[in-house]
Amino acid sequence: MLVDCHTHLQQHGEQPPMTRALIEEYVRAGEARGVTTVCITEHLFRFEEAYKLLHGWWDEDPDARLAGMVEQYWKDHVSGKVADYVRLVEDAKAAGLPVLLGIEMDWLHGKEDLLRSFLAPYDWDIVLGSVHYIGSWGIDDDLFIDQWDTHDIAETWVEYGALMKELAESGLVDTLTHPDVLKKFGHRPQNETPLHDLILAGAAVNGTAVELNSNGIRRCGEVFPALPLVERAHALGLPITLASDAHVPKLVGSHFDQLVAWAKSAGYTEASTFVGRKKQSYSIE
Ligand SMILES: [Zn+2]
Ligand SMILES: [Zn+2]
Repeated sequence: MLVDCHTHLQQHGEQPPMTRALIEEYVRAGEARGVTTVCITEHLFRFEEAYKLLHGWWDEDPDARLAGMVEQYWKDHVSGKVADYVRLVEDAKAAGLPVLLGIEMDWLHGKEDLLRSFLAPYDWDIVLGSVHYIGSWGIDDDLFIDQWDTHDIAETWVEYGALMKELAESGLVDTLTHPDVLKKFGHRPQNETPLHDLILAGAAVNGTAVELNSNGIRRCGEVFPALPLVERAHALGLPITLASDAHVPKLVGSHFDQLVAWAKSAGYTEASTFVGRKKQSYSIE
């Protein structure tokens, strides 16, 4: 058994129709790599309902240029209704496809109640929690890469960690995705422990899982997150989820051998997924 807990049906900048046939492609591609279940976890900002509920959150950033960039990004990425997405994945499940219904939820500081109300109507299997923004700075998006020139790397990592901690403490999500995605473009502080401290302090509150994401291998040559964080998560008894963060079928289950090796070297013998928001663990030995 092997579960890819993090996949997207649409690439950034593209909006292919979300269909049963597309989901089947993800399942088949995963099977070729030994993935037995695929969690479909589309981005929050793909959905009209999320845009209606949350739009304008970016205006709280005093930098109008950044706020405008995020507004444009969110506008460009809306591709349909969450109700239709949920029905599509639930129908695929009912037809016997080994998929789970998930979402990648952006943590937006100060918007916890709105995020809670957005999630509430649907029977999610797994909710991923992501921090993609510090204010209106899209920290893992190369459109915003010039922001690194005017921000201290170590301070930015701590700010990011504080948001991750808030996210975990909210109890809204099952796993914390790409926990040190900040290293994506190579902006690493000398000491990464303060980030790890914050993430683990947050995760320990609700026993939130930590995601091992192979997109890090493809982007910067190292799993998200770094090994010391995984080792400490293991010492705290926190679960882990395995993730490709595929945005196309061919990447489902990508580099899972390396994720499993990373997990084992930190002491893990099990990984987890979530079904109906309940943790289910399986052996990776
Ligand atoms: Zn993400
Ligand atoms: Zn993702």
